[in-house]
Amino acid sequence: MLDEAGTRTMRLGIVWGSILPDIDLLISIIIIAAGGNMQQALAPHRTLTHSFFTMLALALIGLVLWKTAISKSVGGGLFGIAIGMFAHVLLDLPYEVGVSFLWPLTSQRFGLFWSLPGVWAYLDQTLDFLFAAIFFYALHRLAKKYQMRSRLLVPAAVASIVAFLVMVTYDLTAVSASQWLLVYAGIGLPFLLLILILPWLNRRIIYSIPIGSEQHA
Ligand SMILES: [Zn+2]
Repeated sequence: MLDEAGTRTMRLGIVWGSILPDIDLLISIIIIAAGGNMQQALAPHRTLTHSFFTMLALALIGLVLWKTAISKSVGGGLFGIAIGMFAHVLLDLPYEVGVSFLWPLTSQRFGLFWSLPGVWAYLDQTLDFLFAAIFFYALHRLAKKYQMRSRLLVPAAVASIVAFLVMVTYDLTAVSASQWLLVYAGIGLPFLLLILILPWLNRRIIYSIPIGSEQHA
């Protein structure tokens, strides 16, 4: 049932979709840089890019393009992005401000709303950079396993560790929440771009990961 061109780009789409929703932090940075407060800055965060309707639209457009063969690769990619976004939102749900999952119908935020107090809250979010390091390194290990070329994955993993250590050090200084968000997003957005670009450069590795019955074929 699953066509190869579509399933390949779907895999890449899942990786992209898992990080893409947080691109809306760019808007938060602009609001803070323009002198807005934290509440104003975080208002647009986790709305359009975290909405069920955005995912539904991407999934439907993707499926139509894929299954009508208008563009199997674009269709599979869009469908994958919708799956990745859904996973992202599931992991956002228990955390901090919740997610405007039904935006634009309602801006109400849904979630389990737990958050560590004080400096632990900052350390907690700083783990993002450690996860990025693990992701880049794991992809590099897979390249070795499949005897493929690993492109920039080791330097990216090292850069992620450095960013993690810098952020941990910064977290331990007393900072205001809005200043922290600026620094966090200022360091984090380049990594967000890396998580979009490096999987593309290394897409052959992602295409080679066996899943399900393929494993025994
Ligand atoms: Zn998010």
